[in-house]
Amino acid sequence: MRQTSPNHLYFEIVLGLLVILTIFAIAGEEQILEEHLVIDQNSGLALNTYDDRESGGTSSIYLEDEKNMRWHCILRDSYSYPYCGFEVLFDKERTNGIDLRHYNKIRLWLDYNGPSQTVRISLRNFDPLYSKKEILQSTKYNQIEFNVALLNGVAEFSLKDFFVANWWVLENKIPPQLSHPQFDNITIFEVQSGSGKPLGKHQFRLHRVEFIGQALSTADWYLAIMVVWLCIILCFLGYRIIKLKDEVVIQRKRESELIEINEVLDMRSKALELQTKTDPLTGAFNRLGIEEAISIGLQDWYQHRKPLSLVMIDIDHFKQINDKYGHDVGDLVLSNLSNTVQQHTRTQDLFARWGGEEFVLVCRNTDLESARTIADKLRELIANQTLHKDIKITASFGVATLKTYENLEQLFKAADTALYEAKSSGRNRVATAA
Ligand code: GH3
Ligand code: MG
Ligand code: MG
Repeated sequence: MRQTSPNHLYFEIVLGLLVILTIFAIAGEEQILEEHLVIDQNSGLALNTYDDRESGGTSSIYLEDEKNMRWHCILRDSYSYPYCGFEVLFDKERTNGIDLRHYNKIRLWLDYNGPSQTVRISLRNFDPLYSKKEILQSTKYNQIEFNVALLNGVAEFSLKDFFVANWWVLENKIPPQLSHPQFDNITIFEVQSGSGKPLGKHQFRLHRVEFIGQALSTADWYLAIMVVWLCIILCFLGYRIIKLKDEVVIQRKRESELIEINEVLDMRSKALELQTKTDPLTGAFNRLGIEEAISIGLQDWYQHRKPLSLVMIDIDHFKQINDKYGHDVGDLVLSNLSNTVQQHTRTQDLFARWGGEEFVLVCRNTDLESARTIADKLRELIANQTLHKDIKITASFGVATLKTYENLEQLFKAADTALYEAKSSGRNRVATAA
């Protein structure tokens, strides 16, 4: 079973955090992307004032405190449209202003004291399509005019509420396609008293102007979020591919190790299997081993009627060997006899130790007569050999062949009876079953 450790949860945790971050990024879009542009006494922008004396009037403006942007204006009825104004210049040259297109709100901290019901503010846009550097009035008047009551505290307006002054359109013969509000190159922020000839003293103090906008458009913001996600997915896929490659290498190594282990185990099990079928003293088959071998011979007999014969071998007077030379020498004689017989039998004949000093030779595809010949050859071999130092032994043989309608037990019994006969008729001889 796979264990669930904190390591395995890293991916899920990181994914969860990223999802939460994405939700925040979408829900908090306005707050995250909010951008501010501030005009106040610390902005260091150039200031300018003007009045209708330049047009032949007698109104006058007086900048009381330049640092704190405080001024007053006295409008006198000496010109058809008495005016005076206060300007903050984004560019002293009045041509290279700032782009306010991604701002949508303006906040105003402005004190006013005077007879006017309204105040006007303008954002002047320079565009070579209609503006000329030497003609001050040729910059576009994007403006709003509002009731002074709104100036209590902070006044907030949308840049969408700005309109282009009609007199400016007429005076400059601006075609309709250029007469809409425009904020791409604002060179001047301007404050004037309201329209409608409000004569007398107008006092102003400008504390602060704040433009509020969005650093990125919503579409760009969503695109950025998507790009970040795509990058994360790509990185993750790359990481997974590298990991999978490593895992495949490890897996292959494990597989080959397993194959090797299996081969070793297979060899061991075969060796063990052989051990269970062999007699440890003589190296010949034991009873289990010979039973298997006989079953093959039996099949041959049943299926192909190939004769199956059995030679039972019993060493004569073996007890005396033990008594005379000791048990260890007896063991040695048993082992040497086994080797001799195996060396002189055909590969198809299977030799096994039946127990004690008794052996059995299973002769497949061999009839009684041939089996008897083999037995006689072995008898002679044993009798004429010294199996250890000068120790000589003889053995008796009982030979039988499987007859129709007989079973294995009967075959062994017949060989045993023949062996008994060989013993009783003097030993060192071969007897065949009737
Ligand atoms: P016979 O000619 O009638 O077969 O006489 P024998 O002495 O061979 O017969 P018996 O069956 O009386 O004795 C078999 C002896 O074989 C008894 C035992 O001491 C000996 N023997 C049996 N197994 C082993 C063995 O593993 N090692 C040794 N050294 N002797 C064994
Ligand atoms: Mg015996
Ligand atoms: Mg014996």
